[in-house]
Amino acid sequence: MKTKLVKMDALKEAGEIIRAGGLVAFPTETVYGLGADAMNSEAAAKIYAAKGRPSDNPLIVHIADMEQVDLVAENVPDQARKIMEAFWPGPLTVILNKKETVPDGTTGGLKTVAVRMPSHPGARALIRESRRVIAAPSANTSGRPSPTTAGHVMEDMNGKIPMILDGGPVGIGIESTIVDMTGEVPMILRPGYITKAMLESVIGTVQIDPAVSGRTMPEHVVAKAPGMKYRHYAPKGKLILVEGEPDKVIAEINRRAQEKEQEGFRVGIIGTDESIGQYCTGIRRSIGSREHPDSVAANLYSILRECDTLALDYIYSESFFEKGLGNAIMNRMLKAAGYHLITV
Ligand code: AMP
Ligand code: MG
Repeated sequence: MKTKLVKMDALKEAGEIIRAGGLVAFPTETVYGLGADAMNSEAAAKIYAAKGRPSDNPLIVHIADMEQVDLVAENVPDQARKIMEAFWPGPLTVILNKKETVPDGTTGGLKTVAVRMPSHPGARALIRESRRVIAAPSANTSGRPSPTTAGHVMEDMNGKIPMILDGGPVGIGIESTIVDMTGEVPMILRPGYITKAMLESVIGTVQIDPAVSGRTMPEHVVAKAPGMKYRHYAPKGKLILVEGEPDKVIAEINRRAQEKEQEGFRVGIIGTDESIGQYCTGIRRSIGSREHPDSVAANLYSILRECDTLALDYIYSESFFEKGLGNAIMNRMLKAAGYHLITV
């Protein structure tokens, strides 16, 4: 299949592809999504095939207008409505009880459905143009870092899907916050740009699933968002995170990087604007500024992809355990590193 890489003005043709049961990759404010008609299980099946995604890992249904919630969900709690009103359109996915009509192929057989209204105007325009609700996971090959540019999507999906809409680099750069509103207490299943504190300011107590908040591999807790149990976001080389006092972290990374270089490996270092000048070996990249965690989130996946392009064997990175957005950043980095974290 030939993959067309087109600008956002090709929306009409993109809408036709979705209506005909085909796939279109499109930008959202979080990462690029790989979209299909959410109510057509054959169309949804194509997403799994293109990504090589395990079939028990459900998709997020993207909507453009508040009324569309009721096309896919029922018994929507008041608390859920409140956070939708507060944070939609935006990077928040809400788990609700699904309507019978939503196919199992979209929800991985679950009785619940994940719903999000993206704030990216192009994403909402595509949904409206298609006159469908659009199931879309991230548009990467399963296991690879999520795509934050149309070029990243091309790397993974060229020849597998008919169309990629290029809306330029995304704004946020990590996936949406997922909050399960079907239990007694709202539960964050995946941390993201919308933080626990932001949700609590609207609906009171919110919990974070223990499976996604720890520094170690969640072995004994079954993750409720099925996607969170898979190895994810990982570069091909070995990524090692180092945490501790800044000076000690820099010294430890320099020491380990030099050691691996002497053994003949290709070594990369991920630092920050504040620290990058203090590294003295390997291929060095700043992931952004500690003063602006947004910049770290925005650069994370493109740096992890670059590690593959540069064929790095070992990558040493600083850690970001700050509150708020730092939670989401470290959740993705720990998974990418296979929970390989050194404390100095
Ligand atoms: P992605 O769009 O690639 O970020 O993947 C979608 C994420 O949403 C995965 O981690 C899924 O496990 C999660 N998800 C989708 N639907 C549900 C659901 N009904 N219940 C819990 N998690 C879900
Ligand atoms: Mg994904």
